[in-house]
Formats: sequence, structure tokens, C-alpha cells
Amino acid sequence: MPPVSPQKRRYRATTIVALPGVHVLLEPILASIATHDMAVVRSGDHFEIQSPFGVAYLEMQSGRLYLSVETDNQNALNRLKHALIGPISFIAASEKLEFDWTGDEAGLTPLEDLRVLRVRNTTQLTPRMRRIVFEGDDLFRFDRDDQLHCRLIFQPKGVTSPEWPALDDRGRMVWPEQRKLATRVYTIRAIDPRKDEITIDFALHHDAGPATRWAINAAPGDVVGIVGPAADGPKPAQFHVLAGDETGLPGIARILETFDRGVRGFAFVEIHGPDDKQPLVHPPGIEVRWLDREGAAPGTTTLLVDAVRSVAWPPDLQDSFFWGGCEHKAFRQIHRILRNEVRLPRERQVLYSHWHRSLRV
Ligand SMILES: Cc1cc2nc3c(=O)[nH]c(=O)nc-3n(C[C@H](O)[C@H](O)[C@H](O)COP(=O)(O)OP(=O)(O)OC[C@H]3O[C@@H](n4cnc5c(N)ncnc54)[C@H](O)[C@@H]3O)c2cc1C
Repeated sequence: MPPVSPQKRRYRATTIVALPGVHVLLEPILASIATHDMAVVRSGDHFEIQSPFGVAYLEMQSGRLYLSVETDNQNALNRLKHALIGPISFIAASEKLEFDWTGDEAGLTPLEDLRVLRVRNTTQLTPRMRRIVFEGDDLFRFDRDDQLHCRLIFQPKGVTSPEWPALDDRGRMVWPEQRKLATRVYTIRAIDPRKDEITIDFALHHDAGPATRWAINAAPGDVVGIVGPAADGPKPAQFHVLAGDETGLPGIARILETFDRGVRGFAFVEIHGPDDKQPLVHPPGIEVRWLDREGAAPGTTTLLVDAVRSVAWPPDLQDSFFWGGCEHKAFRQIHRILRNEVRLPRERQVLYSHWHRSLRV
């Protein structure tokens, strides 16, 4: 008789959180979860969430959110909790949610999707855009056309044994002895896992924070951690509109390169000045318009908003798609235009707030 394979052990945990505004927050929470490499399947009042780390079940009842997670790998338990509480806490930021889990525990576990990158080379693409090509092992998980973003963890210069955060049983990131490092979200401009290579384009903004300072000083051998991927890419369509400032440009450039020759539409890119233009590969039917701020501070103009408003959309919005990323105020205005004026279906658009002008982090 063939040996009977033992039943795979499943690890389970559950949490219940009071969330009074749950009826308003449910849809944005589900939409945000869906952009983080998880598929949401609705079944009546329940939602099954399929993730690379396991499966979760979400339910809302009388102002409470019930969440349970299930994995077949003990370490993945904390990673799945982390993947869920991030988008939920972000959408329900005003509620200051605490997640107390019952069930199986894993203790402190490493970030399963963390990979270590070292700078291979740097190039100054334009005065305000620095390209960094990184090398690292086992980067295949980041090679996705539908998941363009990642989170970078910036290590100090000269570090020889980098320390990384772990995840606790609540799904929270814990830093070694409180030595917290800066992390920021970036777009993967290009990736070739067969060459162990990831390329990121860093916009060098005037009010440089830790990420920009790191990029300005980056030299071969410098180390970052990368986790992800997350966030949606574009879906197939005949008509595309892309819009972004310098932080959206890496995503726009990458997406344009993937378009079929027959695709039509516009790419609007807001830049500081003419010398920030870069050559873009795109089909002839896509018109690229560089929107020059003419010295105005980033995040203070209506250039992108006006450009998006000027588009004459084709009648078939189901065969159209919008993709963009920019400063928060423009993000909100464009979001309103797409929803109220264009009436572009929700599943036909991906728009991110990339940074906040009034935010000091
Ligand atoms: C999904 C996503 C994808 C992104 N992709 C990219 C990318 O591919 N390339 C890229 O360069 N950026 C990208 N960003 C934006 C990037 O994460 C932010 O610009 C980040 O704040 C930069 O970090 P920092 O440490 O330099 O500045 P922070 O410490 O975050 O901020 C310091 C100060 O600078 C201001 N600030 C932040 N960013 C800008 C900016 N771009 N222009 C002007 N002022 C700014 C802030 O308001 C703050 O006052 C992306 C963001 C998101 C959410």
C-alpha cells in the first residue's frame, strides 16, 4: 500500500474589532485589500480573501468586523495578519484599531517576502530623477505586470550585517531593539529576475526625506530591503489615460512599454521643467504631454487635473482605462472627475495618492 500522506497542519487565528462606521468603510477596505495582491470573493455577507500567504474570511456584523486567517505554514500566519491589518487600519485610520487575535500563534517571525537588494549601479537620468539598478537573489515574486509597487527599507550606509524587522502575533512590524529604519513605497520601473535585477527611479524632490537622501547618496553595494509586491497595474483596454507627476512617471513609463501598437490615448506627466523630460517608448496612438510647472512648487498646480478633465473619452468606457499616481490634492480632484464627470467604472481605474504636500513624516 502507498504511504498515506499526513494531513497538512492548518494554522488559524481570529480577531473581532469594533468598527462603528463599518457600513461606509467596508467597500473601501475591500478595494484596498484587493490592490495588495489579494483576491476578494464575495459570498452573501461574507468575504473570502485569497492571498499568497493563505486564506482569510471577513464578515461585518452589528458594527463589528470579524476576521479569521488560515495558513498551512506557521510563519505565514503573521504575514497574512500583517497583509490584512495594513489596508484595514489605513482606511479606518481615524478609528485607531487594535487587533487582538486568538488561536494559533507563531511568535516573532521573519517577513517572508523580504528580499535583500544591493545597489549595482546608479544613473542620473535627468536633473531630478536618479535611476538605481539593484541586484538581489530570488526576485521572481516581484515580476508582475499587475503588481507594480513595493516597499523599500533603507539601511544606513556601510552596514555589513543588516537587521530587518520581524512580525509579531498581532501582525505588526517589530524592529530590532527599537532600531527603526525608514521605509517608503516605490514603483518597480523594470525587473529581470533572471539577471537578479530590479530598477527603481527615484524623484529627487527639494524637501528631501530619508528615501530621497538615501537615493542621492547611493553607491554600489548599499543595501535596501524590499517587500511586496502590491497595488494594481493597468487592465487591457483600447483607450488609456495615464497621469502622474515625477513619482508617477516610473509607473507610466513602464506601462507605456507594455502597450500593444494599436492602443490609443494620453499620457500626462507633470514635471519641474523641460530638462526633466525623458524619452518614453510608447505606441503612436498615445500622445505624451509633458506638463511644465514652470518653477511652481510640486503639488501646487492644477496641471494634471486640467489635463485629465480635457480628455474626450470614447463612448465605450468598458474598453477604457485610467492609471495614475500623484500628490494627494491632485489625486482627490482627479478621483472626483473620474467618478462624477467621466463616470468611469471603478474597475476601469487605478489611481494612487503618492505623497502628501502638507505631510511631515
Ligand atoms: C504607490 C506609490 C508608488 C510610488 N512610486 C514612486 C516612484 O517610483 N518614484 C518616486 O520617486 N516616488 C514614488 N512614490 C512616492 C514616494 O514614496 C514619496 O515621494 C516619498 O514621500 C519620498 O520619501 P522621502 O523620504 O524622500 O520624503 P518624505 O520623508 O516622505 O517627505 C519629506 C517631505 O517631502 C515632501 N515630498 C515627498 N515626496 C515629494 C515629492 N515627490 N515631491 C515634492 N515633495 C515631496 C513631503 O510632503 C514632506 O514634506 C510612490 C508612492 C506610492 C504611494
